[in-house]
Amino acid sequence: MTTNGQVHEVTFGKQRIPFSLEFRDRQRLAISVHPDQSVTVAAPDGRSVEEVVERVQKRAEWIVKQRRHFEQFHPLTPPRRFVAGETHLYLGRQYRLKLVEDESPTVKLVGRFFHVHLPNRDDADKVRCLLDDWYRSHATEIFARRLGVCLDAARSLDVPEPEIIVRQMNKRWGSCTRAGRILLNIDLVKTPLYCIEYVIMHELCHLKVHDHSPKFYRLLSRCMPDWERRKQRLESFVL
Ligand SMILES: [Zn+2]
Repeated sequence: MTTNGQVHEVTFGKQRIPFSLEFRDRQRLAISVHPDQSVTVAAPDGRSVEEVVERVQKRAEWIVKQRRHFEQFHPLTPPRRFVAGETHLYLGRQYRLKLVEDESPTVKLVGRFFHVHLPNRDDADKVRCLLDDWYRSHATEIFARRLGVCLDAARSLDVPEPEIIVRQMNKRWGSCTRAGRILLNIDLVKTPLYCIEYVIMHELCHLKVHDHSPKFYRLLSRCMPDWERRKQRLESFVL
């Protein structure tokens, strides 16, 4: 079989849905939609490509829905170079990088600038490291404080205070675990406080209702009546 990994395509309305297809020794056809919007299909050995495409076509609406679900928390991140003059975000505001040669490395916010002190201004990797550390410590502190604000605003939720874990996450702003931990994307600290609160409240509500059912949205609306505005703002954010 030479067709493994080949890309095929179905459509739903005007949307094109390319998917990579693999034949394997398995009983059933499995369609997976990934957070980066890609779709992979694993089909049982011996099926024809036409048969598989037909099956995937029948699930096209479901695939589009799954992709939309992943879109809702999809941060858009153009690459940064960590050079002087480049802008970096913090709490929704832009700050320019100012690189200062200094034997003792530090990062400070001064006016509308990130002052990054380091021994060699051309060491972009070091600039990145110093900024990452700065973002991580500020994210940890700010997320903890916002969690407190959200818990106060949503006493009726009656959930025990969750542990917050700050992570580099490529595809999502936040998620929660069955054990009641909330995972937040470190890049969330680059967005405004009211967007941060929205993601925290969203995840807090998931501790009560795990899916995105109408029940979930009723709960979210009760805890944070203006969540849709906050979500829109977050979605329009280009980091
Ligand atoms: Zn959710």
